[in-house]
Amino acid sequence: MQKEDIRIDAVVNEFKDRFGCEPACVVQAPGRVEVMGGHTDYNDGFVMPTAINRNILIAASATQEDTATAYSRNFDETSTFSVIKPERSQDAPWSNYIRGVVDQLAKAGIQTPGMQMVVDGSVPLGSGLSSSAALEVATAFAVYEVTGQSLPGKETALLCQRAENQFVGVNSGIMDQFISVLGQEGKAMFLDCRSLDYQHVNYPAGTRIVVCDSKKPRTLAGSEYNIRRAQCEEAVRILKQHIPGIKALRDVSAEDLAAHESKLPEVVRKRARHIVRENDRVLQAVRALNHGDSAAFGDLLNESHASSRDLYEISCDELNWLQEAAVSVDGCLGSRLSGAGFGGCTVSIVREGALEQFERVVTERFRAKAGIEPGVDVMSAAGGAGRVR
Ligand code: ADP
Ligand code: MG
Repeated sequence: MQKEDIRIDAVVNEFKDRFGCEPACVVQAPGRVEVMGGHTDYNDGFVMPTAINRNILIAASATQEDTATAYSRNFDETSTFSVIKPERSQDAPWSNYIRGVVDQLAKAGIQTPGMQMVVDGSVPLGSGLSSSAALEVATAFAVYEVTGQSLPGKETALLCQRAENQFVGVNSGIMDQFISVLGQEGKAMFLDCRSLDYQHVNYPAGTRIVVCDSKKPRTLAGSEYNIRRAQCEEAVRILKQHIPGIKALRDVSAEDLAAHESKLPEVVRKRARHIVRENDRVLQAVRALNHGDSAAFGDLLNESHASSRDLYEISCDELNWLQEAAVSVDGCLGSRLSGAGFGGCTVSIVREGALEQFERVVTERFRAKAGIEPGVDVMSAAGGAGRVR
């Protein structure tokens, strides 16, 4: 039996044990990895995420009550709340992602009935693979199944993002929810964060996505993230006086930036260079993939890492060690830090025949420098959320 079927059976059995009946449905929503496009999302720019074969499963049924009860297997905790007026929980903060979606669905005209839910996640929590978006999207799909009502994909993603922004209070972009709803098996997604236009692109044949975890806690990620956002806003404020009509760094071409960057303070100039070129790199990466140019695609990943390290300054020793070890392996097309930075994970695209060597070399070289084992996780590009039983 497939590993995923075993997990689904376990969730169904848990549901039967807790609630004394079969669930009406089981839905899944995947986590994601950011393959290209570091910090471009909040600059109205371009990103390239992939949904991964790590997900949140929810087994669910409707009840006649006006409360929803959710049990998380990962936390071994139950949380119950009113579906008429969901309130924020202090005791079970994880349930706020579910409550927030129920709240937003009601505002969009879909009233959640009383519900029983069992949640099980194979997306590691807080590693930058977006377990939070997966939980939100899975909740929306569970409600869709039990009510028979639903919203289109884009609306679902935006609604889940609002749940995270407004109810949980985390100011995240749209990428995570978008890819969790609309991912396609075997493909990366090119997403324009301004227009929400998107396109699916094929990976080079015979390659896998490898996520390496530095295990370094992302303690700086929050504060430094806000500083980077402010620096990008400052760049736009100054450049606006010289390049009329720009709203975000997305609107600034490399030529325009070169002509006017001397007006920016040095640090802001470095940040703007990264964003403008990174946007361009995402477009080039799409072109490379569409033309089957795997070498060019890999080079762009490596350039993205170098730029994140030197211009955007969001890397750290541990991420650099992982990246350097990865690209030393024959058969690794390219590698870069993924997500906010300051710890967390790298993403590498590796030929299937080189996976064993990749794992050995990266583990040994990282252990020699960091004194600990990295996580090395071979993943596949998965499809978006949906019913699995
Ligand atoms: P990331 O999205 O990168 O994994 P976040 O901090 O945004 O990290 O989201 C992690 C939070 O999402 C967890 O602390 C928890 O509140 C919630 N969450 C994720 N997976 C589960 C799960 N399986 N069960 C309950 N809550 C979960
Ligand atoms: Mg998250």
